[in-house]
Amino acid sequence: MTEAEIQQENEDIAKAYKELLKISYRTLSDDDKKLIRKAFEVAVDAHKTQRRKSGEAYVFHPIAVAKIVAHEIGLDATSIAAALLHDVVEDCPEYTLDDIQQIFGETIARIVDGLTKISSLKQEGNVSLQAENFRKMLLTLNDDVRVIIIKIADRLHNMQTMDAMRPDKQIKIASETLYIYAPLAHRIGLYNIKTELEDLSLKYTEPETYRDIQQQIEGSKEEQQEYINQFSNVLKKSLDDEGLHYEIKGRPKSIYSINQKLIKQGITFDQIYDKFAIRIIYKSDLKNEKFIGWKIYSIVTDHFRPNPKRLRDWISSPKSTGYEALHITVMGNKGRWVEVQIRSERMHEIAEKGYAAHYKYKQGKENEEDSLDIWINRLQETLENHDANAIDFVEQFKLNLYSQEIYVFTPKGDLKSLPKGATPLDFAFSIHTQVGYKTRGAKVNDKLVPLSYELKSGDQVSIITSENVKPTANWLDYATTASARSKIKTSLKEEKKQIAAEGKEVLRRKLKQLKISLSDKVINELTVFFKIKTSLDLFYKVGTSKIDNKMLKSFAASRSNTFVSYIKNKIRKPSGLLNDKDDITIKYDKLVFGNEEEKLNYKIAPCCNPIPGDNVFGFLSINDGLKVHKVNCPNAISLQSNYAYRVKKAKWIDSTQQEYVVKLRVSGIDEVGALNEISNVISSHLNVNMKSINLDSNEGIFTGTLTVVVKNTAVVNKLVRKLKQINGIEKVTRV
Ligand code: MN
Repeated sequence: MTEAEIQQENEDIAKAYKELLKISYRTLSDDDKKLIRKAFEVAVDAHKTQRRKSGEAYVFHPIAVAKIVAHEIGLDATSIAAALLHDVVEDCPEYTLDDIQQIFGETIARIVDGLTKISSLKQEGNVSLQAENFRKMLLTLNDDVRVIIIKIADRLHNMQTMDAMRPDKQIKIASETLYIYAPLAHRIGLYNIKTELEDLSLKYTEPETYRDIQQQIEGSKEEQQEYINQFSNVLKKSLDDEGLHYEIKGRPKSIYSINQKLIKQGITFDQIYDKFAIRIIYKSDLKNEKFIGWKIYSIVTDHFRPNPKRLRDWISSPKSTGYEALHITVMGNKGRWVEVQIRSERMHEIAEKGYAAHYKYKQGKENEEDSLDIWINRLQETLENHDANAIDFVEQFKLNLYSQEIYVFTPKGDLKSLPKGATPLDFAFSIHTQVGYKTRGAKVNDKLVPLSYELKSGDQVSIITSENVKPTANWLDYATTASARSKIKTSLKEEKKQIAAEGKEVLRRKLKQLKISLSDKVINELTVFFKIKTSLDLFYKVGTSKIDNKMLKSFAASRSNTFVSYIKNKIRKPSGLLNDKDDITIKYDKLVFGNEEEKLNYKIAPCCNPIPGDNVFGFLSINDGLKVHKVNCPNAISLQSNYAYRVKKAKWIDSTQQEYVVKLRVSGIDEVGALNEISNVISSHLNVNMKSINLDSNEGIFTGTLTVVVKNTAVVNKLVRKLKQINGIEKVTRV
């Protein structure tokens, strides 16, 4: 830096300091000013060699924090001085706590000590450690509530000046702010700061969303002001007639809360009707405060119809944060619901300044214990109860404040915020799309959980991935966030297209076997026959075997009602046509081939037309698959002698007696869709019947018994092999 630059910087520092004194919410005495001056000088000296990431002199930071403390929060000179000194002991070895105590006395030293302790809590990995830190931080409330308040101011300024930081750090700090500092600010009644912390957090965790909403707010500003003006004009005369002194203002919703609405209600920006509230702030002495509030309520509802479900009387019973006001929602112009907040100047000040204003107005009723005191006392009791689980405590503390949001930890201990009701699958997609796609299972706090598990704040979630996993339609039942769901849908669509392309080739081949060539006309016929909307769906159903050979054959039969298909249909329906003619068919209703008695697709040879019960054999024809001939068919001898290797033993069986029951024990990881896949494998792939499935899931591991009806051991073995291929299944054994 050049001499001139240093000169300029010193001037800027002095200017910032003067401004600090000027903007103080409280009137500062000469002693106050002296104290602040001294703190300022120590801070300048202590930080003289330090610079912030942005390059500016470090001392601008404590000055800025002191400004927030003095102006926005409105704390006393002691707090302003402590704010100026908040980083001194931590950052500068030449100043110890003892030094601070000697220069500034007991109180300031204690506050600075508290602040230093909070800073030195290492915000590392572990879930309970973070929660524990939060608890420790709240413990400082025991000493002096000002510690927490200055800490919040410190955090606010850090959030305001985070641009020079690495993106991953920005996200970490922003998440932590949402988790801890914003609720704290809210709880202490610092609503404006809470809102600013939330908006800034969103700015860094979801920059695009933030900018998008910001721009839309900007774009709708004029229209809003117009609306508010119209609204005020309606009320003006009646309010003036009553001789009231008041001010009507629009209060825009924060970007964060608009975003919450968008997520929660799945609507667009334009569909949010309460982008702003209307605030009526009135003058009143303490005695008439409540009466005038209700008088204004009466006037407003004379002109605008109130929504009876949305009346909040926080004048008669203030919120536990000390908040007082009347909130009503009325039907405004253009058929829009508008929230109207009615508060006195005193109530307004408390809402804006929180703690500080609270105590300012409390003077004179010293004996009255108000809700904030009660809260701090109760908090102390809870904090002193060492048995209390830190995470439970944090949750309890946050109460319903962020009921729409939960906070979970990654395996590395980073915080992630998710909407309430989110599952491990949502979490996986929030980490990375590819992680989501490869999700095989999940552990919460080191225990396997199903993907449908509802995450709770404080959960530490790790995702088990596998290269072999692909999203299935079931996943849509388990993902709750819009982004995860749309990613799953995209993947399913891709997959569907792929399967359909394969299905089309399968269809072409299968139809060829049925002597039908795949043409647009045939595709049309098929969609009509199977009552399917599009050809894509048709190909997809063939690709997934939802349309199988049998069905295609009945399609073929419907086109050309040949003798072969006629017979075939009769065999398919043993209880039908042939039943009363020939009781053999009751016993012999199925044809099986080979020593393993497999069920295969076949055609009845037209040369001899065997019927159920006949002695038959199968012959593998070159163009037309497996044909079934009578043993005494005129062609039989020639076929059997010349092409013995193409002959397959065949016999009619009574399917009701030949099938037997097998029990299989399966175990594995409780996986999304596992059950569905098991039943798919059993029913569609192998044509075996499933009698029952009994699955027991315990802490992510399931064991179960499948009872299936099969033809023979070959089928059982094949079934076992297939089941073992299902994701998540570890063991399959015959009982
Ligand atoms: Mn700081």
